[in-house]
Amino acid sequence: MNFHEYQAKELFAEYGIPVPGGQVARSGEEAVKAARAVGGDSWVVKAQVHAGGRGKAGGVKLVSDLDTVRSEAERMLAMSISTYQTGGRALPVESVLIAEATDIDSELYLSALVDRVNRCVTFMGSAAGGVDIEHVAATEPEKIVTVKVSNTAGFQPYQARKMGFGMGLTAIQVRQLGKIMDSLYRLFKEKDLSLVEVNPLIIDGKGDLIALDAKINADDNALFRHPELAALRDESQEDPAELEASKHDLNYVTLDGNIACMVNGAGLAMATMDVIKLNGGEPANFLDVGGSTDAAKVREAFKLILSSDRVEAILVNIFGGIVRCDLIAEGIITAVQEVGVKVPVVVRLEGTNVDQGRQMLAESGLALQSASDLNDAARKVVAAANGTEVGQ
Ligand code: GDP
Ligand code: MG
Repeated sequence: MNFHEYQAKELFAEYGIPVPGGQVARSGEEAVKAARAVGGDSWVVKAQVHAGGRGKAGGVKLVSDLDTVRSEAERMLAMSISTYQTGGRALPVESVLIAEATDIDSELYLSALVDRVNRCVTFMGSAAGGVDIEHVAATEPEKIVTVKVSNTAGFQPYQARKMGFGMGLTAIQVRQLGKIMDSLYRLFKEKDLSLVEVNPLIIDGKGDLIALDAKINADDNALFRHPELAALRDESQEDPAELEASKHDLNYVTLDGNIACMVNGAGLAMATMDVIKLNGGEPANFLDVGGSTDAAKVREAFKLILSSDRVEAILVNIFGGIVRCDLIAEGIITAVQEVGVKVPVVVRLEGTNVDQGRQMLAESGLALQSASDLNDAARKVVAAANGTEVGQ
């Protein structure tokens, strides 16, 4: 689950990480009130969306009078923002953060993430902050310092020194960085986060470190332990299809291709996408309907994959281990009848009662193509999406 910058900064403040004063607003009027409450004579108006890259998209503005606070807030609240991090979607701006403006001497980068290879939390930092870190990693990898935190020993002061001196900080700044990293590590562990990113972490005019931006991601599987985090969910920022899927307990991820897949089991779903690609096709989604799927779930899944207008063919790949193939066939038939599928559907069924299931599909009178195995299914669906026949 993702969070807004203002929510992440509230958590930072709770953990003693320095952030500029700020207040969230949902209208021009509220923005002016927020600016008065924050105080000072210049502010930064920041669009709140679940993505970085807002600065370049017109979602971060430095202003120095209350009329401009109002007009910039109103302009942003009428916007949808699409950046390199929004996956082709435009996210609605429903709130803005009014933050006190900070003098920036330099911009650093600091993040912590779950390091699957080393099975620990790893910090990444760089003196080249404020910019797209993927670009720094690709062009100047020597500018990134990494620190792996031992799961047993926890975060150690020497690790802050390695990071801080690696970034070219002074001794006083390294001490500040140590406190920030220690707090971030506690936040990370206590809230079951999977990512925290501060880009930029700045050195202000007085030489102090401040978190100017904040992004966190929490592990969905641990949200049941953190109702206070779950309450911060903002569904307006989520992919509508993925949101709908989560309501029906379906594991669904939107992708860029034109071949929708409906599969039971995450491993089989990944293998199905691989075989589609091997045959020259592009999957439109990842969809695992679960091991114990039923006709109702199959119907919901069909509705979901058809909600994308990119889909030009559908591949249903179900292994009837726990669930019987005749029940799945029934689900597919009712779903296709009810939902009115207009694109070719290729079905590969295998497992318990497979003959009965295949027979039901064959006798349904619907334009369903049956496939004998996974490769055959992938070839047929790629040909169907391309509007060609499969060569024998
Ligand atoms: P992002 O573009 O979505 O990552 O938004 P950020 O919060 O990182 O802001 C983008 C950029 O705006 C930062 O890298 C800074 O250069 C600038 N910026 C943000 N807040 C302030 C501020 O308080 N003062 C100044 N001078 N610049 C700021
Ligand atoms: Mg940023």
